[in-house]
Amino acid sequence: MFIYNTLSKKNEEFKPIKNSEVGIYTCGPTVYHYAHIGNMRTYIAEDFLRRSLEFLGYKVNHVMNITDVGHLTSDADEGEDKIELSAKKQGKSAYEIADFYTSAFFKHFDSLNCLRPSVSCKATEHIKEMIELILKLEKNGYTYKTSDGIYYDTSKFKDYGSLVGKAHIEGLKAGARVEMSAEKKNPSDFSLWKFSPKNEKRQMEWDSPWGKGFPGWHIECSAMSMKYLGETFDIHCGGVDHIPIHHSNEIAQAEGATGKKFVNYWVHMEFLVLKAGDKMSKSAGNFLTLDSVTEKGYSPLAYRYFCSQAHYRKQLEFSFEALDSASKGLKNLKSAVSDIQEKTGGAKKENNSSKHLDNFKKALQDDINIPKAVAVLWEALKDSSVEPAERLWLAGEFDKVLAFGLFDFKKEELPPEIKNLCEERTLAKKNKDFKKADELREKIKSLGWLVEDTPAGPKVKKI
Ligand code: AMP
Ligand code: ZN
Repeated sequence: MFIYNTLSKKNEEFKPIKNSEVGIYTCGPTVYHYAHIGNMRTYIAEDFLRRSLEFLGYKVNHVMNITDVGHLTSDADEGEDKIELSAKKQGKSAYEIADFYTSAFFKHFDSLNCLRPSVSCKATEHIKEMIELILKLEKNGYTYKTSDGIYYDTSKFKDYGSLVGKAHIEGLKAGARVEMSAEKKNPSDFSLWKFSPKNEKRQMEWDSPWGKGFPGWHIECSAMSMKYLGETFDIHCGGVDHIPIHHSNEIAQAEGATGKKFVNYWVHMEFLVLKAGDKMSKSAGNFLTLDSVTEKGYSPLAYRYFCSQAHYRKQLEFSFEALDSASKGLKNLKSAVSDIQEKTGGAKKENNSSKHLDNFKKALQDDINIPKAVAVLWEALKDSSVEPAERLWLAGEFDKVLAFGLFDFKKEELPPEIKNLCEERTLAKKNKDFKKADELREKIKSLGWLVEDTPAGPKVKKI
């Protein structure tokens, strides 16, 4: 299997540390607001990755964090804690806000058929591990103190910014991207531990060897990923926005503390955008949630199908027109499966040497090419040289990865008007009045239903 590694900027052959077991860490949500459909694109892409690995025979240990403290409104360590700010705005406690948006997140996550991680860990429940990690960094000489916290000195870490390349780091050094607070030694330095403000009581704060405060956002991912997956693990995922800061900092923290390589494969998901180049962002307020999509009558799985149409390393532009055609595409797919199921009475025939199965696996092995995998599904369903029972089995196998709910179809009830027209048409055919029968078929079609004559009698389905 080949996978694109942001670290080497190459497609690399995937070799897990332990033969057939894979450790994956995916950066989870910051639970101060609803996740938007852009965030959900990343979780769906990560789910395709995980399911592909499982399909190809790996045992996956998947860890995802819940950021319920420490993520500030600016990535430059300035501003307020997003959760405390949301709590103030809504007149609730920070813990209530975090709980509320964590449940809302998993409701969407489940409805998109994303498999729950083996471990979902909250930042607030791992403060001890974060403090221990900062202590190691302190011992190894990577930290310094300012009036508002303990900072990481990025000039001490030899490979800082290896994920993005030197040019970007030079930019950071020149102060082009981040406004630097007076006490920071380098623009790319970041907080490991922030002190609670002197004249304000925070709801979320803890004692530490440096004084009362709270952890920086980046330290949580290094601490929790290593706790559950070990000091070196296989795959770390997240959206492309995390490459220059969050993930670069995670590497600096983990490797600065252990002296070992942190992650073997960095996998980054491209953005969902609204219009060409227009970013969707929670903080900028220009975002759609899954609810705003389902309120318009689209199922969450239609959104999953929409996401399957672009490779995870390509930007995907969202529009309701595009979602509409994806929704129709999924309906057609399910109806093709339903037709085969009717033919076989549900019987499936396993064939592990099927060429379609082989093509499907090849698509997954080629850097998780899900659009190709969906094309293989269509080819398999339409291949009349393959027995229907075998096609049905293939659909079941492929849906282990695609998770479109291909077998969850409800037969649409025929409206009485359509039912009457169909009966009239059957009568016309019986009386050999084919002209009338054809006219009735056209009328039924204009009302959105398709009549097909089969050896078992006429079949009617929604267009
Ligand atoms: P956050 O809750 O902001 O920490 O983001 C959760 C995940 O969504 C991260 O992996 C981000 O990189 C990713 N993400 C943020 N915005 C987008 C977007 N517009 N499209 C795809 N992924 C995104
Ligand atoms: Zn993270």
